[in-house]
Amino acid sequence: MANQSSPKFSNRFAQLPQSFFTLVNPQPLENARWIIWNSQLADKFGFPTDVPQNALKQQLCGETVPDHFTPLAMKYAGHQFGVYNPDLGDGRGLLLCEVADKQGKLFDLHLKGAGLTPYSRMGDGRAVLRSTIREYLCSEAMAGLGIATTRALGMLESDTPVYREKQERGALLLRMAESHVRFGHFEHFFYTNQMAELKLLADKVIDWYWPELASAENPYAAMFTEVMERTALMIAQWQAVGFCHGVMNTDNMSILGQTFDYGPFAFLDDYDPSYICNHSDYQGRYAFNQQPRVALWNLSALGHALSPLIDKAEVEQILAQYEPRLQQYYSQQMRAKLGLHTVCANDGEFFSSFFALIETTHVDYPRFMRELSNLDSGDGSAVVDLFVDRERAQQWLDSYLERTTLEVDNVGQPVSPQQRCQQMRSVNPKYVLRNYLAQLAIEKAEQGDFSQVNALALLLAHPYDEHFAYQDYANLPPDWGKGMEISCSS
Ligand code: AMP
Ligand code: MG
Repeated sequence: MANQSSPKFSNRFAQLPQSFFTLVNPQPLENARWIIWNSQLADKFGFPTDVPQNALKQQLCGETVPDHFTPLAMKYAGHQFGVYNPDLGDGRGLLLCEVADKQGKLFDLHLKGAGLTPYSRMGDGRAVLRSTIREYLCSEAMAGLGIATTRALGMLESDTPVYREKQERGALLLRMAESHVRFGHFEHFFYTNQMAELKLLADKVIDWYWPELASAENPYAAMFTEVMERTALMIAQWQAVGFCHGVMNTDNMSILGQTFDYGPFAFLDDYDPSYICNHSDYQGRYAFNQQPRVALWNLSALGHALSPLIDKAEVEQILAQYEPRLQQYYSQQMRAKLGLHTVCANDGEFFSSFFALIETTHVDYPRFMRELSNLDSGDGSAVVDLFVDRERAQQWLDSYLERTTLEVDNVGQPVSPQQRCQQMRSVNPKYVLRNYLAQLAIEKAEQGDFSQVNALALLLAHPYDEHFAYQDYANLPPDWGKGMEISCSS
């Protein structure tokens, strides 16, 4: 293996009893070849920064299984669209091993699209090129935005035919995450009455991810509090950036509060709070403005599964903290996005006018926020130009500019427009993975041209920078690309 001395491998999950997983080897794809290799992430683990060749490539894409890999499919369950499904598990993904980063922190190395497992149900164990590109780009985009997420180390395509609505090509995602434990893991053991396993899993989660909680009065309650906190932060960040996950089933909720399992996700173009990105979500259960409520529902489902370990009253108490924490995080995020850190008397009214404006006009959200961040140059016409009702926009903009004059820094000095805007440009991205951009990149990739996938990966890793050579990627969506609904088939 190239760079043999560097990566350090383990697999703590494989040490658990057999009831937690099934050992399964990957089923290699035909003529697997790299589309993209995440050099920056690779470097953190001591993998070569150049695209891996030969032995390492064969290992990473599952053609050969070295001794230090223990490929396994995890067993879990979960609530899908509110209905409990006991039959879930890794149906097409395999945990290969854990890899230590240079600080010694362990990350799972997971292959998505690696073939059949005992949990594949009616599926074929495969992932198609388009959904793999979407997950790669979005997980790296979320990382670029500073939102907790699984990561993507690389992506391969192949000649293996995969049948969805039409014949497509099989692809593989190399996913990395501090954990692949989902809310649904706990639900599985609870609903199958395997209480020793439930407790063992909670003990392991504490030991692996939060060892400092082991000495808490009730470590399980402390763990649940931590999950609640992280979930509240993640959801606040989603809402602030305009991210719609699309399938917030409990099997897609990470125990570490990281954005997990990218399917029919979307970033808002127009600010439509009731936007539903998932074509199969007929009731709008996972609409953009439902996400905060759904996360609480999912936390309640986890709390119920943990009820043998935590007092019911304590579970309730922890759940009651979710909404205020979410509000707190969301308010911090929105204040930063608007450059309004100083708490002022009429802020409630001002923020209401902001939401009334964006919700009723459905202005392009990312562009509006970025243009507000550029008010240190120009006369504000770039903001007003985004609205049909220019007079209303100008009125609101005037009230905003007046409000900004009240900003003071932490020693009470007035904040200059330059200072305010510089900070705002570091939290309002110029480049967002709009669905139309992903769609165009996928159409090219399906023709064998990966240039747009590569360009997006580069831009989204640093979404706040100007990247003057790539201005087109910051364009507003064409009419066909607005409010797209994405199929769940992947
Ligand atoms: P998802 O909607 O991707 O979160 O998947 C829900 C469940 O279906 C999980 O247990 C997946 O492993 C499984 N699954 C999704 N797609 C496939 C597939 N093509 N083959 C086998 N299992 C799949
Ligand atoms: Mg899933």
